[in-house]
Amino acid sequence: VTVTIENTASSLGNFRDRTREFVSAVLLPAVTEWERAENLPREAFQAMAEAGLTGHVLPAEVGGLGLDMAHSAVLMEELMAHGLLGVATSLLAQSHTVLPLVAELGTPEQQTRFLHPAVRGELVSGIAITEPAGGSDLMGAVQTTATRGADGWVLNGRKMFITNGPVADFLIVLARTEPDRGALGMSLFLVETSNPGFRVVEKLDKMGIRCSPTGLLEFTDCQVDATAVLGKLNHGFPNVTRKLVNERILSAVGALASARACIRQTVRVLGDEPVPSDLSRLMAEVEAGFAFTDLAIARIVAGETLRQDVAAAKFTMPGLLQRVVKRCMELTGVAAFHDDTLISRVFRDARVISVFAGSSETMREMYVAGLIPGRGQ
Ligand SMILES: Cc1cc2nc3c(=O)[nH]c(=O)nc-3n(C[C@H](O)[C@H](O)[C@H](O)COP(=O)(O)OP(=O)(O)OC[C@H]3O[C@@H](n4cnc5c(N)ncnc54)[C@H](O)[C@@H]3O)c2cc1C
Repeated sequence: VTVTIENTASSLGNFRDRTREFVSAVLLPAVTEWERAENLPREAFQAMAEAGLTGHVLPAEVGGLGLDMAHSAVLMEELMAHGLLGVATSLLAQSHTVLPLVAELGTPEQQTRFLHPAVRGELVSGIAITEPAGGSDLMGAVQTTATRGADGWVLNGRKMFITNGPVADFLIVLARTEPDRGALGMSLFLVETSNPGFRVVEKLDKMGIRCSPTGLLEFTDCQVDATAVLGKLNHGFPNVTRKLVNERILSAVGALASARACIRQTVRVLGDEPVPSDLSRLMAEVEAGFAFTDLAIARIVAGETLRQDVAAAKFTMPGLLQRVVKRCMELTGVAAFHDDTLISRVFRDARVISVFAGSSETMREMYVAGLIPGRGQ
């Protein structure tokens, strides 16, 4: 495979500098407070937009910078070098999941109403796919329906574990529009949370990524007009699952960057003591992991799909992070036990990377299915 890496070092370097400035000026001084408050204020979304980071992957026609996934990986690396997974989860749900879908599938009216203000940091958004019945088997679990009403559509159902759900101004919602047609009977809707048929049932209390607000949401006879459909009717499922590849590779990069940061912190704490051999081995695994994800990202940038390699990265790297942070906890002892240290935050947060955007178990299944001819995907 020939990989043409079109990113110039200076483009990535400038982007890294800009991200570092945003992280140190805006995020680091506030993150402990946000974690304790279990909320990410609107100002964080605004500050990201002002730093030019919200729309960087979006095309220039919709107010973006037209940069590629390699830049997103840099953004993820810089956030996770400080263990900012809660912040990353909320900010990237908007910048890397919701907004690219609206940019790609939205009508000019939808882009004016939702995309442009969100790129400017004036609106906060989320994507509501998972349901209380489960997130892995979406085809079986989605029970939310959208039925045709007099002036558009009527939504009924519940959505579980929705990032930014409790604070969002609008959501992309996956619902069944033709329940008999399985994966080709679901559609995406743009729903404003001021709609009287919408309510936040509960803001969820979580072990980790505490500053990222997560919600159980409910739609009860929630009426939206016909223009709320995002993309082609009944194409919601393929449209949304196609995008998961990006979330998965960024999750893997984030896991590695966190692992690297924890190891470096541990080595600092050890001072003049020798670095234990198992920590050196973990360090080498992390750097090998980066070589794998860097190549995968370069190939994605070059236009390859890479579902299987990305699945491998998604189940391997978060597992590696969990081994790393457990060992770093042991080696640093009470120094890592303070609430606001990097290692303690990563210890709390690490588990969830194995869950969202495709659990490790389902990623392993997907990987194996691709290796063995004839085994169903
Ligand atoms: C903090 C957080 C934020 C989230 N944000 C969002 C969001 O913004 N929007 C959204 O739509 N969703 C979101 N999710 C949901 C997330 O995508 C789901 O949690 C994930 O898809 C797994 O679904 P589940 O938790 O329902 O587990 P289930 O699908 O119920 O699975 C339970 C367990 O069974 C295992 N399992 C399932 N299938 C198999 C199989 N075939 N083989 C072996 N084992 C299997 C799973 O790995 C898991 O360990 C979020 C989740 C969390 C925790």
